[in-house]
Amino acid sequence: MGTALGRAFADAGVTVVGPLGRDFEPASLAGGPASLTGNPGSPVRAVDAVLLCVPDSEIAGVARRVPAGPLVGHCSGATGLDSLAPHEAFSLHPLMTLVGRESSSEAFRGAGCAVAGSTAGALALARRLASTLGMTAFEVAEQDRVAYHAAAAMASNFLVTLEAAAERLAASAGVARERLVPLVRATVDNWAALGPERALTGPIARGDAEVVAAHRGEVARRAPELAWLFDELVRATRSLAAADEPVGPPAARDPLRTVAEVRRHVAAARRGGQTIGLVPTMGALHEGHLSLIRRARSECDQVVVSIFVNPTQFGPGEDLTTYPRDEPRDVARAREAGATVVFAPGVEEVYPRGFATTVSVTELSDGLEGATRGSEHFAGVSTVVTKLLNMVQPDAAYFGQKDAQQAVVIRRLVADLDVPVRIEVCPTVREADGLALSSRNAYLTAEERERAVALRRGLDAAERAVADGERDGRELVSRAREAMAALGVEPEYVEVVDPDTLEPVATVSGPVLVAVAATIGRARLIDNALVDPPSSLVDPPTARPGREVSPELLKPAAKAAPIPVTTIPAGTRRTEIGAEPCNA
Ligand code: AMP
Repeated sequence: MGTALGRAFADAGVTVVGPLGRDFEPASLAGGPASLTGNPGSPVRAVDAVLLCVPDSEIAGVARRVPAGPLVGHCSGATGLDSLAPHEAFSLHPLMTLVGRESSSEAFRGAGCAVAGSTAGALALARRLASTLGMTAFEVAEQDRVAYHAAAAMASNFLVTLEAAAERLAASAGVARERLVPLVRATVDNWAALGPERALTGPIARGDAEVVAAHRGEVARRAPELAWLFDELVRATRSLAAADEPVGPPAARDPLRTVAEVRRHVAAARRGGQTIGLVPTMGALHEGHLSLIRRARSECDQVVVSIFVNPTQFGPGEDLTTYPRDEPRDVARAREAGATVVFAPGVEEVYPRGFATTVSVTELSDGLEGATRGSEHFAGVSTVVTKLLNMVQPDAAYFGQKDAQQAVVIRRLVADLDVPVRIEVCPTVREADGLALSSRNAYLTAEERERAVALRRGLDAAERAVADGERDGRELVSRAREAMAALGVEPEYVEVVDPDTLEPVATVSGPVLVAVAATIGRARLIDNALVDPPSSLVDPPTARPGREVSPELLKPAAKAAPIPVTTIPAGTRRTEIGAEPCNA
């Protein structure tokens, strides 16, 4: 900018000394005949004004090196005049983009120019300099400068980013960038002449949801890295077309706090023909949660991840107050995994004053976790999940097999209350040694962490026993308890239950759920395995793709494509209730 301005001023008849460069000699400003004011008779200053064209962060430092006398100015958009103290100061921000090709005063003709001055004289000089180059001067209040500069960046820099994205997609269709240029020019002319609402054309303005959905599909296929940008632009464009409230960029929006905001987002997506997935979580996101988000993203256009540590599902003396919370990290991780919206309401938003309703799924909630944590636990879970489903109204909601009883309870409530949603249950993601990932693993000391693998070992022992022909439910429980005791862990419960009714199974004759809970140090942990005795196999494994999960897929970092059939311990099969393998 410095060089271009220097040339342009010289071209317009202003006497210019420099550009001087960063290592300028301060004394060089104290002598010489130059006059920017065109008043060579002025005795006071060797130069009338010094214009600093340096990065914003360097303005103050360079200004301090300029000897007292001349007016000192900068050409930053976002910086105020304080940075030029102690000089009589001005600023000049040409609202123009220069890429080094322009070489004369013509480069600036017709542009706007934000001007400021610490005195009337300084402001007059800034205005005069602007008009010398044919620019239209305007003032921006100090407190508005950053916003003004951000607007300029959006109008210019982001437009280039957008065109680069369009170019990439066009190239995938064999269309050269030159073909886009007249379209871009006409669009900018229309926007300039008519304003945004009238300049907007195309399928979103026409309300052609099918075309938008088809676009989305091809963008995701050909340039998946652009899919999130496409989604956000669809949102913003829809909002413009509907003359709705303007929407901000995700970073400013995240996380959404209110039901109204989330509904507005979902409604806009639905108008664009998009599908919605919901992943309810209590935060402290780990690979288990992320596998749910990735799965949701692979099946839905929009993925709402809720983060809410639900107080009503914690019993007295449980870890509600100490539950790990790190919202900024969770928002970033959720976004990276494919969340398009993070919804993190406060307790008052979910349970406003006067809240009086409880959803309770009887019987299924009574055993296992319900028996140990108290009946209020699942009442809390069922109520909050019902509320989240009503708030978001997703096409599908994603839960982990890790909380097997929770998944059964939620399937029941959705069926009983006719909630129009598909419930998807994803396989448990584990550490390499088999420990199921859990937010509460963070409570474990190193020694406790070693013992925590006992839950998985207990399940393995029960599974092995079934493979060896054991069918007595009580015997399976004993085997699991023994394996856990070997690691010094006493379970709160080990139970062998029916995977659908959760009723205890005395004699194994079909698939059973082996569920276990244990408290190790401060951490209360749960785990489960779905075990099929060989005799219960009706279909050959390949006839039921999707119900089997490769052990590879249970590892946190597994990248493998979904594998329909697993290698299984001799004579047994591990299955997941209704689960499709997640792309963990
Ligand atoms: P939470 O934040 O603990 O309420 O969990 C939110 C969702 O993530 C629930 O549906 C859990 O079942 C699921 N989830 C938790 N841990 C895992 C894991 N290790 N693997 C898969 N899903 C999990």
